[in-house]
Amino acid sequence: MSEINNLKIESKCVHAGIGEYEFGAVVPPIYQTSTFKFESAEHGGALFKGEEKGYIYTRMQNPTVEAMENAVAELENGYKALGCASGMAAIHTVFATLLNAGDHVVCSKSVYGPTATLLSTVLSKFNIETTFINASNLENVKNAVKENTKVIYIETPGNPTLETTDLKAVSEIAHNNGALLVVDNTFMSPVLQQPLMLGADIVVHSMTKFLNGHADVVAGIVVVKDEETYSIFRKTLNQLGGVIDPFNSFLVHRGLKTLAIRMEKHSKNATKIAEYLEAHPKVDWVRYPGLKSFPQYEVAQKQHKAPGGMISFELKGGLEAGRILMNSVKLSQLAVSLGGVESLIQHPASMTHLSMGKEARESAGITDGLVRLSVGIEDVDDIISDLEQALNKI
Ligand SMILES: *Cc1c(COP(=O)(O)O)cnc(C)c1O
Repeated sequence: MSEINNLKIESKCVHAGIGEYEFGAVVPPIYQTSTFKFESAEHGGALFKGEEKGYIYTRMQNPTVEAMENAVAELENGYKALGCASGMAAIHTVFATLLNAGDHVVCSKSVYGPTATLLSTVLSKFNIETTFINASNLENVKNAVKENTKVIYIETPGNPTLETTDLKAVSEIAHNNGALLVVDNTFMSPVLQQPLMLGADIVVHSMTKFLNGHADVVAGIVVVKDEETYSIFRKTLNQLGGVIDPFNSFLVHRGLKTLAIRMEKHSKNATKIAEYLEAHPKVDWVRYPGLKSFPQYEVAQKQHKAPGGMISFELKGGLEAGRILMNSVKLSQLAVSLGGVESLIQHPASMTHLSMGKEARESAGITDGLVRLSVGIEDVDDIISDLEQALNKI
């Protein structure tokens, strides 16, 4: 375990979090149990006092969960991690742990919808105020910081525009102002971007996406840098209760083994598809961190090992063109979520954001022809032929 830090990320993905198990098992067994027997009253007492290491109750800690948490912490170069029931449970745990009534948050505007809603509805009830900004422009970040700013929260690349923020620069702004930088690293994964190495204090993930990678688990995680922060977070998570269960932890840990090879393939496929779409007459524009036309291309080149699997593009025919494309694709699946081995396609204006109305959509940056594609690991020519036959119907 101690030598794992010297390994390259591809090897870490395979070996991270793996220990020694009964019968010489090569992978961590699934401890599908809610509670753990004490050897005696004294043993139970010692565990509760923290004088002895061991397991008490699965909401507090479980060996299968701990193995997966250690794996993600190793991949992110963190101290330890806390597995959560979903990405939103992880994000809520972070805000509930770090913030007090009267505190202020600076949050990037192109952020996962429910994250923004959590801040503007649930947390605002507790007198926590949020300023949403386009964080790719550092001046906006500097101007938004106030005396009571405790957290700068950045999702990069962001949802759904892929707007990209310079994490090293923002971490300096945060630390110069006594705030912490929290980064949602869901779109990139630790294989392509390591926020803690760029100055972030805390990383969160929806492990539902690339980390698990197989579209069969909902889960999240918080990665922290030191023992003190970890112990505060562990206590709060135990009280909030949004923990991951052993079976989902097992599945995520299994998914991690192929994370590096998947991210490489997602990136290769997406690069080819982005180039194909950019040259297509029915496509107005394409946003992909690997394209020279990408607005934050320089930052992306510096910050990412590869451009990732997420593409957004605008169809020339607006709402109707989007509908036709959605109803014509066969290989790409029409579904929300992202980061699985299968390509997923989504048209916000006709689906997730239909009820919002055109005006509200546009102010949120969701134009009528906007399509989001989570590129899978299928053969890239098959994905392109499928898009081609569907685009031909517009
Ligand atoms: C999906 C997602 C979340 C929320 O995660 P869940 O596992 O669905 O709760 C948070 N952030 C980003 C960037 C996401 O894509």
